[in-house]
Amino acid sequence: MKIIDILNQNQKGVAFEFFPPKTEKGSKALAATVDVLKNFNPLYTSMTYGAGGATQEKTKHAVHMLTKHKGLIVMPHMTCVGAGSESIKNLLDDYKQEGIENIMALRGDAPEVVEDFDFSKQEFCFAIDLVKFLKEYGHFCVGVAVYPEGHIETPSLDADLEYAKQKIDTGADFAVTQMFFDNKYYYDFLQRAKGKGINIPILPGILPLTNLDKLRQFASVCKATIPEKVRNKMERFKSNSSDMQKAGIELTIEQCQDLINNGIKRLHFFTLNKPEVMKEILEALSL
Ligand code: FAD
Repeated sequence: MKIIDILNQNQKGVAFEFFPPKTEKGSKALAATVDVLKNFNPLYTSMTYGAGGATQEKTKHAVHMLTKHKGLIVMPHMTCVGAGSESIKNLLDDYKQEGIENIMALRGDAPEVVEDFDFSKQEFCFAIDLVKFLKEYGHFCVGVAVYPEGHIETPSLDADLEYAKQKIDTGADFAVTQMFFDNKYYYDFLQRAKGKGINIPILPGILPLTNLDKLRQFASVCKATIPEKVRNKMERFKSNSSDMQKAGIELTIEQCQDLINNGIKRLHFFTLNKPEVMKEILEALSL
């Protein structure tokens, strides 16, 4: 089923993003995670794609497991930078054959090993090029990424939103935001997007908080602001990791509950394949 149809029929619910495991142990952990989270009737699930297609086979394998063995609706992520149209078409053919109907269309990041990587010299320069390709291919419902605090490379919030609008106008059906830890950035983004005539569903991307060092790492890569309240509360428990996780979970519940209280009842979680943390958060929410 296409995710846009699911979203049109459901004004509330959760979605789970997973990453493809690298080892047999990781595969078992993912299967166990999915067994726990399936009970929360996700609207859909998604599977990330390693930078530059590094996990292409692992992503495909994990997508197969979730679709065929767990009966879930799965949206594979796909990045286009550095890829050619032939390889992208082959991957889409495989997914179509597998019964997949949704793709998260992303540009991806510059390869770390290449100095001064020039996006403009690639066959696919930006996510919009993949969205275009997908629309010409047909069959798939297309999700894209958007950035409430601006993408890390962008010179301005306005420019970033303009480019987001262009990829949405090219045919993206819905969007998921980059993580944010202060809801004001998301509410402001929704207002600005509406003002620009963007009318597709924009689901908030939520990262459950468990560890301050990891949070700092994620936040710096994603250009997400860590509010003082979050930093202070987690710092208080820096000598005890399980207390810090407890504080993080409380903060995530507060963040989600504030979204729900403000009418945002469809949440996309970056699960990090951690069932216990997710379970605690989901059980506390009034969804
Ligand atoms: P784009 O929309 O192409 O934007 C990239 C940058 O280019 C932005 O700064 C934008 O403002 C600018 N831009 C866009 N169009 C133009 C133009 N025409 N001219 C000039 N500048 C332009 N990465 C992975 O490798 N694998 C994943 O599975 C993955 N999943 C993700 C899931 C979510 C929900 C999110 C938010 C991100 C994910 N990413 C993933 C990260 C993503 O690949 C990076 O953030 C990447 O740097 C940008 O991808 P994009 O699709 O947003 O690119």
